[in-house]
Amino acid sequence: MKTAVIGGGASGLMAAVAAARSGAEVAIYEKLNRVGKKILATGNGRCNYTNMYMSIDRYHGKNVKLAENALNFFDLDKTLDFFEGLGINPYVGELGKVYPSSLQASSVLDVLRYEVKRLRVEEITDFEVMELRKNKDKFSIIGRDAAYEADRVILATGGKASPQLGSDGKGYELAKAFGHKIIEPFPALVQLKLNGKYFKRIAGIRFDGTVKGFTDKKLIREDEGEILFTDYGISGPPVLQISRKVIEELNKGRKVFLCVDMFPESSKVELYDLLSRRFNKIGYKSIEDGLVGFINKKLIPVVLMEAGFENLQKNCGRLNKKEIFKIIDILKEWKFEVTGHNTWQQAQSTAGGVDMSEVNPKTLESAKVKGLYLSGEILDVDGDCGGFNLQWAWSSGYTAGYFSSIV
Ligand SMILES: Cc1cc2nc3c(=O)[nH]c(=O)nc-3n(C[C@H](O)[C@H](O)[C@H](O)COP(=O)(O)OP(=O)(O)OC[C@H]3O[C@@H](n4cnc5c(N)ncnc54)[C@H](O)[C@@H]3O)c2cc1C
Repeated sequence: MKTAVIGGGASGLMAAVAAARSGAEVAIYEKLNRVGKKILATGNGRCNYTNMYMSIDRYHGKNVKLAENALNFFDLDKTLDFFEGLGINPYVGELGKVYPSSLQASSVLDVLRYEVKRLRVEEITDFEVMELRKNKDKFSIIGRDAAYEADRVILATGGKASPQLGSDGKGYELAKAFGHKIIEPFPALVQLKLNGKYFKRIAGIRFDGTVKGFTDKKLIREDEGEILFTDYGISGPPVLQISRKVIEELNKGRKVFLCVDMFPESSKVELYDLLSRRFNKIGYKSIEDGLVGFINKKLIPVVLMEAGFENLQKNCGRLNKKEIFKIIDILKEWKFEVTGHNTWQQAQSTAGGVDMSEVNPKTLESAKVKGLYLSGEILDVDGDCGGFNLQWAWSSGYTAGYFSSIV
C-alpha cells in the first residue's frame, strides 16, 4: 500500500515512521528544501518534545475531548520509549518539560531522519502540494510540475503559525476541497500588545512574576514565570501561555486587561514593611534614587509616574503610608489594556483548524473522504506551552500513520 504524507513536520515525520513500520510504502511531500525545519526552532533550539504532566486539560479547541483517543493511543510513555529507541535520552527540566539531554533540537530531527531513511521512506522536498484529488480508490498528489499517486493520504501540513517555517495555512485549502470545514484560525502562544506610553523605555526588562488576564472583573487565565517587557508590550512564557484565552476574548469584541505582579512571593503588607524600613534608613535620598537596587533602574521613573508621583526628587523618607502603597499597587497589580497581539510570524501555535468532529477520533481518518487522514496542528487542537504541542503532533501523527496502514 502506498501512503503519501503531505508535510514533513513533526507530525508528518511521525506519521511516516508509523505507517512504514506497519508495512506501507511511504513518501513524504514537503514544500521546503528539507523536512523538519520547525523542529529545529522548538524550545529555543532545545526541543521541548513532551511534558511529564500530560493531561487533556492542557489542550484547547472546539471538540478537544475528541483528541483524547490519540493522546492515549500514543501517550507520554510510548513517546518517551519511541524516542529512547531512536537514541534520545530524556532530560526533564522545570515544570515537567522534557528535552533531549543533548539539549539540541537537531538531535530530535536527526534521529527521526535516520529512522525515515532506515525504513526507506522517500523524502520529496521542494514539492508544494497544490491539489489533492481522489478518483475511485486512488489519490492524486499534484504539485506545480509533477503528480504522484497513493492509496492513502495523511494531511500533516500544520496550521498558520510561523509561516516562514513552512506552515502558511494552505493545507486548509486542501482539506476544504474535500469538504472539511475550518474553524477560523487565530494565533496562540504569541506575545501581547499593550496600551501604554512607556514601553520603549522599559523594553528588555525581565523579571519573575505573575500575569493575569481579565475581562471586566472575570479572571480568564493566569500564569507565572519569566516576563519580559518589550517595545510593544509584553512577552515571556507566562504571557504566551495565557495568550490563547486572551485573544479568544478579544476576538469576541471584549476588552481584556492584564494585571502584572512583579513580586508574587511577597504580600502587599510584606512589601510595605520592606519599603518603609528601607525608606527610613535612606530617607535622605530622592524616591527615584531610593528604589535603585530594589527594582530595575529603568523601571523606577515609570513605576513612580504610573503611581501618580510628579516630583520624583522628593525625599523617600517623607513618603506617607498611602504614598508607599501607591508604589506597591503598581509593583503588585500593574494594569494594562491589551490592544492586540503579534502576528502569525511570531506565533508558536495555531488555535482553530479542521474540526475534530470531522475525523474519526480513534483513527483520525476523515469523515468526508475514505483513505484521507489528518494529523498535527491542521486539526483544531492546540496545547499549552511546555511540550504539549509536539506531543499532539507525535500522538496524532502516530495514530494516523498506524491506522492508515492497517486497514
Ligand atoms: C518557534 C517555535 C517554537 C516552538 N517550540 C515548541 C516546543 O518547544 N514544544 C512544543 O511542544 N511545541 C513547540 N512549538 C509548536 C510545535 O513546533 C508545533 O505545534 C508542531 O511542530 C506542529 O507540527 P505539525 O507537523 O503539525 O506542523 P508543522 O511542524 O508546521 O509542519 C508542517 C509541514 O508541512 C509543510 N507544508 C505545508 N503546506 C504544504 C504543502 N501544501 N505541500 C507540502 N508541504 C507543506 C510545511 O513546510 C511544514 O514542514 C513551537 C513552534 C514554534 C514556531
